[in-house]
Amino acid sequence: MQGKLQQRYRVARELGQNSEFAGEFSLPQLPRLSTLVVKDDAEIRVRFEFTENRYQHPSIRGHIETRLQLECQRCLKPMSQSLDFDFDLLIDASDDDVQSFQTDTVWTDDGYLDVLEVVEDELILALPLISMHEDVSCHQHWQPDSLPEPDEGRNNPFAVLATLKGKPTEGG
Ligand SMILES: [Zn+2]
Repeated sequence: MQGKLQQRYRVARELGQNSEFAGEFSLPQLPRLSTLVVKDDAEIRVRFEFTENRYQHPSIRGHIETRLQLECQRCLKPMSQSLDFDFDLLIDASDDDVQSFQTDTVWTDDGYLDVLEVVEDELILALPLISMHEDVSCHQHWQPDSLPEPDEGRNNPFAVLATLKGKPTEGG
């Protein structure tokens, strides 16, 4: 049975029904992720189910798929990053359970799980630490073998300290 996508689910009820959910969230619904992208017009396709079968413990597992516009750290122009991955999380698990199942947990609020929040966290974790175009020549001044000039960074830090010390204190 496929249910309608919503933001919050009462976990105890969904576990008993074996429902699968699928649909799309839009990026503006995910404000933390939105600050990390160049354009917030992406659709985020999700599907997931609540189950106790895998760990004999309540869990949510599913799949997330989207294409985000990130800023290339080399040329600062937008680049397209597609993300497509499964997730599998315990619900309200103790530290011991997290340890023994080697799986992270999410937390409910009064028995309700905010799936939008879960999806947003998973997407933020899935983002590359440094996003760059595959083509290293995207920035005309950037060469893979170029190193900073040896003279850079040779300024004596103590010289700066000396200047600061010599300054008269402001105000009074
Ligand atoms: Zn680039």
